[in-house]
Amino acid sequence: MGQDVERLKQELPLLEYLQQQNWTGQRAGRFEYVGLCPLHQETRPSFYVNTRKDVFYCHGCGQGGDLIRFVQLSRQLSFRQSLDYLDPQAVQAEEPTALLEQTAAFYQQQLDHYPEALSYLHRRGIHEPALIRELRIGYAPGGNLRRYLTRQGYSFAVLRRAGLINAQGTDALYQRIVFPLSQGEHIVNLYGRSIGVAFAHRFLPGSKGGLYAWKKVRHCSAVILVEGLFDYAALRQAGFSNVTCSLGTHLNTDQFRQLCDGPRTLYVAFDDDANQSGQQAAEQLAHRLAVHGISVRRVLLPEGQDPNSFFVQGEDAHRFHSLLEVARP
Ligand SMILES: [Zn+2]
Repeated sequence: MGQDVERLKQELPLLEYLQQQNWTGQRAGRFEYVGLCPLHQETRPSFYVNTRKDVFYCHGCGQGGDLIRFVQLSRQLSFRQSLDYLDPQAVQAEEPTALLEQTAAFYQQQLDHYPEALSYLHRRGIHEPALIRELRIGYAPGGNLRRYLTRQGYSFAVLRRAGLINAQGTDALYQRIVFPLSQGEHIVNLYGRSIGVAFAHRFLPGSKGGLYAWKKVRHCSAVILVEGLFDYAALRQAGFSNVTCSLGTHLNTDQFRQLCDGPRTLYVAFDDDANQSGQQAAEQLAHRLAVHGISVRRVLLPEGQDPNSFFVQGEDAHRFHSLLEVARP
């Protein structure tokens, strides 16, 4: 371990690490820099870095030490965790796709063991086991993923960079229904919908990929576009197979390009929001797509509803068909 520490510190001098973290110290001597302390609140600089000894000392809060010590203090990690966090070699060896694949499988297994997760799904009208399996819907209870993946041999640094755990070492997804997001054959991200009071939507850092399950519908002459995965699941369950989802009303470049890759009619079924944001987004999208020769119809849902709540409130496929028939350009 001593060798690891020396190698790490040689590869990454403390000053360089601080600058990567946006620390703006000024040169104060031949081997000395001074700036505001990143470890405590202050208005006058009392944080010194000695580049020859590769250490820091703060005259304000009295903290001092080397790079590892700084990471421990600033990220609230143990010594071992700080080494993992800093070690790029530990990270490059890993395959992120395999990690997300294992995580998704783990969350899938959890779903049946947590009644609160199943009852949330049922409240959102999603109950068909075959569909739940096909979409690989899972549940992140929080508090058990890190232990599981660590046993599979994943280091703290790898889990941290994938965004699966927080700096404090706790699971990032906590009490969330999880949908894996794929690009081609590979899972590239996870979407977590809170079943509690936490912020409703959460993704891991990085790309969300293109349109959801695009491969299934790209050859369809008519495609229904929704903004949420629960909307998607509800429509699929109601028997509509030509559905895709943009994970929000703002399409990224990949998603927009996918919609333009062939002639088709697109039925945009965004939420009917009280503040009109869903309707406005649908209208703007229609204009942008029209330029590319894609004909767009806007599906007008009853006031305040989205495709998911439409079915939850007892409407059926027949009624949704009628909405598609009267959808306007
Ligand atoms: Zn300080």
